[in-house]
Amino acid sequence: MNRALIYSSALCYGGSAIFAGFATSEFLHPVAGINPAWGLLTAAAFMAASGLVLQGFWRTQHEVLLERQSRIELLDAQLSQQANAVDSLADGLDIALFICDSKATILYANRPALQLFRFSDPVGRTLLAVTLSHELEQLVLEASQTQLIQHAELSFAYPADRVGLAKAWPHDRAKRVFLSVYDITDLRRLERVRRDFVSNVSHELRTPLTIIRSMSETILDDPGISAAKRGQYMEKIMSEVDRLALMANDLLVLTAAESQAVTKAPVDLAEVFRGVTDQLLPKAREKGVDLRYSGPFAMIVPAHAEQMRQVALNLIDNAINYTVQGRIIVALSQEGACFVASVNDSGLGIASDDLPRIFERFYRVDKGRSRGTGGTGLGLSIVKHIVEAHGGTVLVDSSLNVGTTFSIRLPMLEIAEGSASEES
Ligand code: ADP
Repeated sequence: MNRALIYSSALCYGGSAIFAGFATSEFLHPVAGINPAWGLLTAAAFMAASGLVLQGFWRTQHEVLLERQSRIELLDAQLSQQANAVDSLADGLDIALFICDSKATILYANRPALQLFRFSDPVGRTLLAVTLSHELEQLVLEASQTQLIQHAELSFAYPADRVGLAKAWPHDRAKRVFLSVYDITDLRRLERVRRDFVSNVSHELRTPLTIIRSMSETILDDPGISAAKRGQYMEKIMSEVDRLALMANDLLVLTAAESQAVTKAPVDLAEVFRGVTDQLLPKAREKGVDLRYSGPFAMIVPAHAEQMRQVALNLIDNAINYTVQGRIIVALSQEGACFVASVNDSGLGIASDDLPRIFERFYRVDKGRSRGTGGTGLGLSIVKHIVEAHGGTVLVDSSLNVGTTFSIRLPMLEIAEGSASEES
């Protein structure tokens, strides 16, 4: 009951009491000789009593109202707290979640769902409009119609090629359907990489093993084989055995780089890169390639010395292998808090189509040329794994028939004082 109603009823009530009191005493005056003033007095007393009663009633009502209001506010606050908790729980999951109605119109979507389908405001739109997936829409409709859980592994073309494990389940009689989509793109890609890796290793092993077997058979089956021929075959067998040993070694290095956490210690990477350059100078000179080191005398970086030597060896050896004639510069510098090493050659270069794939295991631009250089096709994968395990990055910049630059960046703590530039 509100205040205006109480006041107006009090007013009417008071008015009627005065009128009734006055009329009664006016009527009784001639009959019983009662003074009309008594009637007015009685009415006033009645009014005062009613006012007190009404005031008491109003106070009680007001208190009840206040109490109810504060209870509602408390419940409101609790509800919005719970809603916030549910929202942040749903947003923190690694799964996209939707709530849809029976016609697959979206009623709710959590943050991963918005990110997966790159949509900012999906509520009120159809699942099809947001995901562009007929299969996903069908899954929700089936769950709604059959009231049974539906599962499917689906591929999404929009906004990028992705694979998701979708599950739709009916929630209540209102035919609302919950839908979850778990993004398994990376998982499937890893499975493919692993499958490809096993088939590549088998293939890489088969080639030298076939050569070794056929050469050995020829020597064994032909007792009259000339000493020169036999020597030639034996050399080929030896070189294929060396190749197998190299591959086994590279695979072990790759596995170690992949599975072991890097134990870093302060390493003078200038000494490491200069040392490898010196080591490979004879090979470069033999090919008529000018190989130079350009950088500080000392650069102390937290790293794994042996792994960084492997990185330098793979990059500089590749530069020599894929440069017919020309020059190679191994340069070291510091950029902000980063150690930067680059190996720049004026060699064959790499076509832009091949560039995204050269860090894949066993990927070679030219199989024949790689075999000729004794390469295993694992060198750049090893570089990438080691550098990334150090928290760094590898970049490649190349133009066909102009040359290639591989650069690695590593986080560094300090650089040796009094560094002096040196060329060798
Ligand atoms: P490989 O053992 O064949 O050298 P890598 O993993 O070291 O294997 O390199 C992968 C491929 O990248 C090579 O086969 C080669 O085609 C290309 N490549 C690597 N470095 C260079 C470079 N400096 N110049 C041109 N091509 C390169």
